[in-house]
Amino acid sequence: MSDENKTPESTPAPPPEASGQAPAPPAAPEAPGSTPAPAAAAPAGGPPPPEEPQGPTTARELPLKALAAKRIVQLTGCTRCGECLNWCPVWDQDQREDILPRRKAADFLRIIKGQHGVLARLAGKDEGGARQALARLLGHRQVTEDQVQEFAKNLYECSTCGQCEIVCPAHLDTVGMWEEIRRIMVMAGYGPLPPQKNLVKSVKSYDNPWQQPRASRAMWARRAKKEGVIADTPPEIKKTKGKVLLFFGCTASYDANVRQVAVSTVNILTALGIDYGILGNEERCCGSVLLRMGDPEFARIAGQNIAQFNGLGIDTLISACSGCFKTIKEDYPRVGKLNFEVMHTAEFFHRLLEGGRLKLVNPVERTVTYHDPCHLGRASGVYDAPRAIMAAIEGLNLVEMPRNRQYSRCCGAGGGLKSGYPDIQNKMSQARIREAEATGAQELVSCCPFCYQGLQVGIGALGSPLVARDLTALVEAALIKK
Ligand code: SF4
Ligand code: SF4
Repeated sequence: MSDENKTPESTPAPPPEASGQAPAPPAAPEAPGSTPAPAAAAPAGGPPPPEEPQGPTTARELPLKALAAKRIVQLTGCTRCGECLNWCPVWDQDQREDILPRRKAADFLRIIKGQHGVLARLAGKDEGGARQALARLLGHRQVTEDQVQEFAKNLYECSTCGQCEIVCPAHLDTVGMWEEIRRIMVMAGYGPLPPQKNLVKSVKSYDNPWQQPRASRAMWARRAKKEGVIADTPPEIKKTKGKVLLFFGCTASYDANVRQVAVSTVNILTALGIDYGILGNEERCCGSVLLRMGDPEFARIAGQNIAQFNGLGIDTLISACSGCFKTIKEDYPRVGKLNFEVMHTAEFFHRLLEGGRLKLVNPVERTVTYHDPCHLGRASGVYDAPRAIMAAIEGLNLVEMPRNRQYSRCCGAGGGLKSGYPDIQNKMSQARIREAEATGAQELVSCCPFCYQGLQVGIGALGSPLVARDLTALVEAALIKK
C-alpha cells in the first residue's frame, strides 16, 4: 500500500503541529484535575459570574489487557542509549526528543503506570477522597487527556521504517511495539490522527485507501490494452485456475502515475508464458494501512483475504508492491495459515533468471542507484534478488548510495507518515533524493509503488533530473524487444 503523491485522493492538509521544526509543546500539567463544575447561571441583568479555572481532563483508559505482556517487558528493555537517534530518518527532519523511541517507550510506560499501576488502583475512582489524597501523597498523578493526545501525535510521527530496530543494541522489536501501541491507542479512541482517518475509512468502505470504487480496480488493464501497452487484459485466476496469483495492490491498480508497475509486470509474465491470473475487481486491499496505523479491523480484512487466496488452489502469490508483500508474507500468518508461497516479483524473477527461463537479452545502457524499500529490505530481508537482476542486465551500471540494504534511508511514504505529516515526508524524500543524486546516477530504481510515490515527492520538490523507475520496467526493457 502506499501513500499518495498524485493518487486519486488528495493529501489531507497537515495538522498545525506537523510543521517540521515545531517546538515541543509544554509538558502536560501533572496536578490532578477535577471535572469542572458547570458555570453558575448569570443572574438576570447582573454581571457574568467569574470563570471557573479549568482543570486538566482525565484521559480515557488505555486497554492494557489488549497489549501482549512481552511488549511491556520490551518497553522497559530500552536502555535509553540513543543509538537510534543517529539513524532515525524522521528525527533527521524534526529533532524533537518526544518522537524518539526511548522517549515514546518512557511516555507510554508512564501513561500505563498512571492508569493501571498500584497507586492508580489505590486512588481508584475515589475522586477528591481520602484514598486519592493518599495516592497523591505517594506520588500518583492522574493521566491527562493532553498528555495522551500529545503522546499519540508523537507515536504517529514515525514511518515504521524499522531502522531503529536494526541498530538497537537491546534488539528491541520497535516496529512491532509501535504498531501494537497504536492498536491500543485506536481502541481507546486516540488514534489514528485526524488526517490519517480518511485512508482508514476508505479501506473499510471501498477496500482501497484511495476512495475509489471497487468496480474500477481493474480498469487500468482495459485502458492499457486500448492504448496498446499490454497485449491483452490479464487473465482472471478464477477462470484460468492458474497456479500463480499476481496481486497488484491498491496503488498500482488505482494510481495512473504508478500504472507502469502493473503494465511491466503483466508484460513480463506474458512474455515468459507464466501460468498466472489476477483477481480483477475481486482483489481487495491487503490491509497494510490498517495494520500500520493500529486499526484492529486489520485482522478481519486479513482473514477475508486469506480465505479467498487459500480457496484459489494457487502455489504462489506474487506482488510487485513491497508493502503488500510484507503484509501478506510476514503479517498474515499471525492471523491465519497460508497454503501457498508468497514472493515479491523481484524474488520471482530472480528465481526464473537463475533457472534460465528469464533471459535478459537487451542491453539497458544507463547508470542507476537502488533504493531498498523498508518493507522489502529491513522487514523481509530481500536485498540480493533485485541487485542480482540488475547485475544480469547488460549495460546497466548500479552505483550504491552510502545508505543501502539494511541502512537504506526511508523515503517516508509508509506508516501513515505521509498522510499525517506530509511536510516531514517531503523532507525525508528530499534527503533520499540528494543521496541518490550524489551517486551520479540517472535513475533511481526501487521495487515498490509506494516508494515510487514517496520518492516522486522529493524529486518534484527539488526539481531533480533523477528519474524514478520500478525494477519491473528495467526487466521488461531487458527482456522484450520493442
Ligand atoms: S521506525 Fe523509523 S521512523 Fe520510526 S522511530 Fe524507528 S527509525 Fe524512526
Ligand atoms: S537504540 Fe534501542 S535501547 Fe537505545 S534508545 Fe533506541 S530503542 Fe532504546
